[in-house]
Amino acid sequence: MGLQGKVALVTGAGKGIGKVIATKLAAEGVHLALLARTKADLESLAQTIEKTSDVRVGTAVADVADRTAVEAALAELKETVGPVDMLINNAGTATFGSVAEMAPEEWERIVKVNLFGTYYVTRGVLPDMMARNDGVIINVSSTAGLRGAATTSAYSASKFGVMGFTESLMQEARKHNIRVTALTPSTVNTELASRAGLKIGSEDRMMQPEDVADLVLAILNLPPRVFVNQAGIWTTNPQ
Ligand code: NDP
Repeated sequence: MGLQGKVALVTGAGKGIGKVIATKLAAEGVHLALLARTKADLESLAQTIEKTSDVRVGTAVADVADRTAVEAALAELKETVGPVDMLINNAGTATFGSVAEMAPEEWERIVKVNLFGTYYVTRGVLPDMMARNDGVIINVSSTAGLRGAATTSAYSASKFGVMGFTESLMQEARKHNIRVTALTPSTVNTELASRAGLKIGSEDRMMQPEDVADLVLAILNLPPRVFVNQAGIWTTNPQ
């Protein structure tokens, strides 16, 4: 019953939020297809999961901004784990700087990873979901996908893009019984937040990757007649 025996593809599964989502899904008996760029992270997670759960785990390395690499990785994962029932588009990157000062290559890279990456991976798994008339897709956006701020133009543009992509996909996919959700968390205690200088105040008051993973599990566990189109979560810490 529930999620047991289904297959989830988690992108950005090597660290942070994606790693905890994958770990919690394995505990529910979900077979896992794990994707990120760093092979060692994925293999180490796969080994840990295989020690504690009886699920199939496949790993594949790809930069989500590279469509050809994504297509090859998805083919490999389908071979080892099976067609995807649940896609968690979590891989993402963030650096901040003013429009005037940020290098255009950096700006383009953020949009490529966060927006094009979400599109490439979704495009790869959608035909199987449509053929089976079943599926769940959760796209991890951000509060920066709802409002802009000084120095976040690239990240906000990419995450606003994810919101528009999610809304359009949701309208297309409903008739195929595919549920599509955008998550818009505020700051979560991960390496990304450290690198971007987002960790302000005490760590124990910050949202943890476990909190986001619990929300993902709650959404996935809803009956098929229900879907959450958008879920925002904030820490109670006003920082
Ligand atoms: P982390 O940096 O901790 O982890 C990111 C994961 O994504 C890593 O496994 C990383 O592995 C992978 N990744 C990064 N770039 C790529 C790429 N180009 N191709 C494939 N995989 C990639 O980040 P978080 O866990 O904090 O972030 C996860 C998601 O949550 C992101 O989409 C982020 O924008 C979003 N988010 C985060 C918030 C926060 O405060 N932390 C708040 C709101 C949203 P590798 O480097 O090996 O590829």
